Amino acid sequence: MTMWGRMASCAGLAVPLVLVCSTLGAQTLQNAETLWRNHDYDGAKAAFEALVKANPKNAEYRVRYGQLFYERFNSEEAQKLFEEALAIDPKNAQAMLAEAQIAADEFDPKANDFATKALEYDPKLYQAHELMARIALEDDNTKKADSEADAALAIKSDALEAIAIKASIDLLADKESPWVAKIGNRGEGYETIAHFYMINRRYEESIQYLVKAVTATPDLWKAHSELGVNLMRLGREGDARKELQLAYDNHFRDAETANTLTLMDSYSKFTTFETRSTALRLNKKEADVLRPYFQEELDRAMATYEKKYKFHLNVPVQVEVYPDHEDFAVRTMGMPGLGALGVTFNNYIAMDSPSGRPPGQFHWASTLWHELSHVYVLEMTNERVPRWFTEGLSVHEETAASPDWGDRLSPEIIAAIRDKKLLPIAEIDRGFVHPTYQAQVIVSYYEAGKICDYISERWGESKLLDMIHEFAKNRPTVDVIKEQLGVTPEAFDKDFLAMIDKETSKTVAGFSDWTKQVREISQLAKDGKYDEVIAKGRAIEGIYPDYVEAGNVYDFVAEACLKKDDKACAMEELGRYSKIGGRDPETMKKYAKLLQDAGKLKEAEAALERLNFIFPVDAELHERLGGLMMQTGDAKGAVREYQALLAMHPIDQAGSHYNLGKAFLAAGQKDQAREEAVSSLEAAPNFKPAQKLLLETSGGEK
Ligand SMILES: [Zn+2]
Repeated sequence: MTMWGRMASCAGLAVPLVLVCSTLGAQTLQNAETLWRNHDYDGAKAAFEALVKANPKNAEYRVRYGQLFYERFNSEEAQKLFEEALAIDPKNAQAMLAEAQIAADEFDPKANDFATKALEYDPKLYQAHELMARIALEDDNTKKADSEADAALAIKSDALEAIAIKASIDLLADKESPWVAKIGNRGEGYETIAHFYMINRRYEESIQYLVKAVTATPDLWKAHSELGVNLMRLGREGDARKELQLAYDNHFRDAETANTLTLMDSYSKFTTFETRSTALRLNKKEADVLRPYFQEELDRAMATYEKKYKFHLNVPVQVEVYPDHEDFAVRTMGMPGLGALGVTFNNYIAMDSPSGRPPGQFHWASTLWHELSHVYVLEMTNERVPRWFTEGLSVHEETAASPDWGDRLSPEIIAAIRDKKLLPIAEIDRGFVHPTYQAQVIVSYYEAGKICDYISERWGESKLLDMIHEFAKNRPTVDVIKEQLGVTPEAFDKDFLAMIDKETSKTVAGFSDWTKQVREISQLAKDGKYDEVIAKGRAIEGIYPDYVEAGNVYDFVAEACLKKDDKACAMEELGRYSKIGGRDPETMKKYAKLLQDAGKLKEAEAALERLNFIFPVDAELHERLGGLMMQTGDAKGAVREYQALLAMHPIDQAGSHYNLGKAFLAAGQKDQAREEAVSSLEAAPNFKPAQKLLLETSGGEK
């Protein structure tokens, strides 16, 4: 930093600090701390920088400097300094605790190990007990959370975080808590309670406690920011903006605060379509294309769930669809787990748009049904449902809607089954919040989904509804399993794993050999040995039928069939690909063309219709599907398809309006047909077919 900069940062400060500025040559820790306390972060940084430079063997200065970075939203720089401190003094408890804190922020399970080490180095470090209590409670492990909080309180009787965790344990169980009063006017304690409500998807209560936090400590800017974010999640945008702006104006400008404000500015690019029970918020640039498909699925899913769950939602559901994945990420930030595709906040759903993902990689309708199940289950249980159950049920609903929806068995899930990494039902929540290996979140979704499938198969689908009602009473998983299913959790695990084993053993056992053989098939295809590709491909596709991604067996076989000019063979193969859930738009279009050429129009139509749930931002798709529907007599469907085509601004305006006009006429909507004929002629006045359509639709009986 230049001298000018330093002078400037000193200029605005209270008089005694000017002295600090003038003595920068010989820094003391106290100087740096004073600047920090007075919010002169640049000054404090410069002071620490000088201190660290002058004292290369001092670990303590590095720890405090790191803590400054950590407080100012730069965990990366902070971590570097903590690591340097530990290199100088390997048993520095504060540095180890700070590492634990950073890991905990990222829901990294190493946090617990670091905190344990910190306690070894300094058994009086009550903050390490507090951190372990926090991690345990995030996992729903109330017993451990309670004992760690007690351990902290035994060292320091007014330890705030420990008190707040004891309060949270009671409040999450819907009990009055004597611990709340002990927080007194210390806002950070209420902020901790709000964190646990948030983790448990209880956003309203989270908001209440954040309000308490900022009332007790008005300059707790972090809590203002969190309050803003949670208000935004529940659609209260005016109040959200006020809180976020307040935090921002007071120099609390972490990524979450700044990005949320930017996101809210971008709302002007969106438009909202409302019905009595839904609000659909779409980006203006794609609203016309997406709206009919999203609205139809939204209505269909809600009607299905209303019947299935025997529950009517009293609040409208808002669905927000983001074409820019970064906007979506901001909308959902701060949640544990993977980069999701959709997230539900009470009756608000935020999700990626199909246009924001590579074609074929995202089944948006499946995601929409998944999230909508959450809306019902959260509402029905007053947000008391454990994470594993609502996720499992949502995954279960995806394939219940249609067997080709939902996620396929992926190689990482196969590996987890092979290595016996599925969690016992009593502990499965842990896999969602604090994964101990990279794919554990995905594996946990799969496992929870399969658990719900299994319950439905063995005890009947209505048992899932009974369980929702039990979870609404805020009862723990273990008790609900024992009572509702009449088995111990251990017995359940045993039976469930036996079912998984039966269902997947062929794939799990054959996986590595299958991989090898797919490589051989790829070589045979390159060598033009098509008969061998077909024979070998068909022999192994049953080992791992769920694999439909790049380099799948169905593709190799179908291509080989086509090379031999055997269309029936290719059609049969691609039929299998489609049925098991294959999603690549080009492959599906190829399949539809084969069906169409063979005169199987209805099947061709169904094949293309699958793509509307996957990648509807495709002019060619709508044109072809519209044409097919006209041939099969589905005029209403053709109208929808040609409207979608027009919403994509096709080059051939005259032809597109004409096609839509013909579809309207076939659907008996003569006035609309005439309007389209006029639009077509506006684009191309001499377009004969449109002239004819205009005549046909003007006046007369016809
Ligand atoms: Zn979910």
